[in-house]
Amino acid sequence: MDSELRSQAARYVQLLRRSGKKDAWLPAGLTRRLPAGPTSASPSSLPSSKTPSARNLSPTTPTRSPLSGLPSPITSLSPSPAPPPIQLPSGTKAERLAALQKQTSACTICPHLAKSRTQVVFGVGNPEAKLMFVGEAPGADEDEKGEPFVGRAGQLLTKMITAMEITREQVFIANVLKCRPNMPPNTSGNRKPTRDEMDACLPYLRAQVAVIAPQVIVALGATAVEGLFGPQKMNMTRLRGNWRELDGVPVRLTFHPSYLLHNQDIALKRLVWEDLLAVMERMGMPISAKQRGFFLKS
Ligand code: URA
Repeated sequence: MDSELRSQAARYVQLLRRSGKKDAWLPAGLTRRLPAGPTSASPSSLPSSKTPSARNLSPTTPTRSPLSGLPSPITSLSPSPAPPPIQLPSGTKAERLAALQKQTSACTICPHLAKSRTQVVFGVGNPEAKLMFVGEAPGADEDEKGEPFVGRAGQLLTKMITAMEITREQVFIANVLKCRPNMPPNTSGNRKPTRDEMDACLPYLRAQVAVIAPQVIVALGATAVEGLFGPQKMNMTRLRGNWRELDGVPVRLTFHPSYLLHNQDIALKRLVWEDLLAVMERMGMPISAKQRGFFLKS
């Protein structure tokens, strides 16, 4: 077993143990795939996990403090009772997504985030979307508006979507974490979500993916990649341009739009654009010669 798979396997066992399966063990001969995590949602409505990193769809209660290293006086994370399993009723995708949004909006698994958030930022877009973008977490603007990617990074994301000759309304945009990571009082800026926060919230994203069933997902930035697939050994420069899989859906890894805002290098824009071209190709979208040439130095 290679070392990456081994560490993912160890992480899976740790998750099982955390969720009460004290006798979780790793078969010595395990060389290919780990078993799918137990799912608490309706088996008919949720896909079986296909990747070692795919996790339970029942939101998990974080057990480690996610706040180590952060300046006080952020309140520390106290464990909350086991959350109810995600229920996905039958109906149209829009109805099922609306039901999921209702459950997500009432979430208090991370008491510190439930306390600090203005609202849960569920996601926005077309329940029938063929393409989904996944970022890391709402920032201050998103927390205020209740919609992901509405700040400067969001405006750039909208431009990227427009360059694909589709609209923001045709896709679905969400984050791994649905609440804004809390900040000390009177502090501006945003902090990176912790692993525990992302682990606790990932089942909601996986449920969104199960309902929407997009053809392709684009993971935006290192934190989103970590939230979806666990800690990575490589940095984004090496991860981008690669495909992964979440519950059977191909995921293209690329840089976060805010990275492009901080680094105006045209070569970097081209790399992100090449990721989007690869997505368009995979989805069978038409690509013009003009589009193929975007961000190429003349
Ligand atoms: N960055 C993200 O990852 N998500 C947002 O919603 C906004 C900025």
